[in-house]
Amino acid sequence: MMFSVITTSPEQTEHLGELLGARLGRGDVVCLYGDLGAGKTSLAYGIAMGLEVKEQYITSPTFTLVNEYEGRVPFYHIDLYRLKTPSELEGIGFEEYIESDGVTVIEWADRAEDELPEERFSIYLSYVSENSREMGFLAEGERYEKLLKGLKEDLGKNKVLT
Ligand code: ADP
Ligand code: MG
Repeated sequence: MMFSVITTSPEQTEHLGELLGARLGRGDVVCLYGDLGAGKTSLAYGIAMGLEVKEQYITSPTFTLVNEYEGRVPFYHIDLYRLKTPSELEGIGFEEYIESDGVTVIEWADRAEDELPEERFSIYLSYVSENSREMGFLAEGERYEKLLKGLKEDLGKNKVLT
């Protein structure tokens, strides 16, 4: 079952990411789906904040496809927008990242469809209007189901989102 929320500003999306990031731990894999401008990088920025990454400039990795950050646990931000062929995944050590003890967030995860772990947390982002984005959450695996339950509780408590 998909759980959805709508954010009405980039800041809200970041805040949502921060709530999620605060709940993430070693080995977690978060897959982000959605077109350009859907808010994937904004959400990833928030996740970094929730993981206590101290660096100021969390941008999407471009030529390298992966940026590594030090946070409460290592944070690996992968963006597959510029992936040319699936064989390139091996070159960037994709499998090592998702099997690592850090947190891996993957923008354009659909481009690595066959390489994704069976158990994962997926977020489907879509444009609603200029400042609104819909985010649908899908948890696969017991660990991620618990994570989603916790996130829902946070949202209920904070009432920051509709
Ligand atoms: P993506 O990584 O999916 O291409 P970005 O996060 O880089 O998306 O860009 C999202 C753009 O949409 C930014 O320019 C941001 O300011 C704008 N925006 C407007 N409303 C929202 C919202 N509710 N959530 C996230 N981004 C939003
Ligand atoms: Mg992006």
